[in-house]
Amino acid sequence: MLKDLFIGLSQNQFLNSAAKKYGLKLGAQNVVAGTNIEETIKSIKELNAHGISCTVDNLGEFVYQKEEATAAKEQIIAVIEAIHDNKVDAHISLKPTQLGLDIDYTFCLNNLEEIVAKASDYDIHVNIDMEDHGHLQPSFDILDELSSKYTNVGTVIQAYFYRAEEDIQKYKNYRLRIVKGAYKEPEDYAYQDKKDIDKNFIKLIEYHLLHGKFTSIATHDHNIINHVKKFVKANQIPNDKFEFQMLYGFRKDLQLQLASEGYNFCTYVPFGNDWYGYFMRRLAERPQNLNLVVKQVFNK
Ligand code: FAD
Repeated sequence: MLKDLFIGLSQNQFLNSAAKKYGLKLGAQNVVAGTNIEETIKSIKELNAHGISCTVDNLGEFVYQKEEATAAKEQIIAVIEAIHDNKVDAHISLKPTQLGLDIDYTFCLNNLEEIVAKASDYDIHVNIDMEDHGHLQPSFDILDELSSKYTNVGTVIQAYFYRAEEDIQKYKNYRLRIVKGAYKEPEDYAYQDKKDIDKNFIKLIEYHLLHGKFTSIATHDHNIINHVKKFVKANQIPNDKFEFQMLYGFRKDLQLQLASEGYNFCTYVPFGNDWYGYFMRRLAERPQNLNLVVKQVFNK
């Protein structure tokens, strides 16, 4: 019930635009690294000092105006320049709908190509985040086109999709982030039951660890993390073949612990003023995250 409510709120265009005007509110500042590049680089430096690398996401999605998509592209290129100039350990995560996928496929592809080409100049990886099922195939098509020219690009496999196993086999030679999946998807496309999703998640992680190029295991679920620790040990998978990823601000102690245990760890660092949809999806995943809101309201 609460999950559906927050997913519904995350897609509300009116609230989304209103949130952009008012800056980080409702506790979003606990899980969003900053509203501009300068603040974000500062947060990245702090994480790097603990041996944690970062993937930076310029917040924004469901863009329907070319000007907005072009501005997002320019902002992401500015982030790439800042990563290079500041010599921080970070790469890029981006969402195709922010770069015009709902406007025009070729326009979006060209925007992504400019970003990937610039990142390639500096040897910076670009991850194409995966959104809801309506955008899944065109996002893979963009990946196919870009990877025929560049090697610094990868994507995400969402374990709740029935097709995920086929996708992971097809893309085994890519650097892949594997997640459970964050959107509300219909039964025709995706597992609904948590147990089925978790089972498929483990199956996909194990497959990519054994056969894939590089695996980013993106989860806050300690049961999955403990399983992976045992699996890599039993199968002698070296540390440089995988990393754990978590979102900025979540399970900070566990993030630091995994890094100090010698695992590669990467924090997903979102920034910008288009924080509303991202924040609502985090509340949908885990209503206990409402604590962040409550703390904010009472700690004024
Ligand atoms: P859950 O299934 O939410 O939680 C499992 C258990 O873990 C909980 O029952 C609880 O015991 C424990 N737990 C979870 N969170 C906490 C917490 N904060 N504190 C204490 N215990 C906790 N989704 C997409 O669809 N596309 C993407 O591109 C994408 N990229 C992502 C990138 C990263 C780095 C991460 C971490 C997630 C990403 N996601 C993405 C979201 C993902 O699909 C899940 O929706 C999200 O991670 C929640 O699932 P979970 O695996 O973390 O664990």
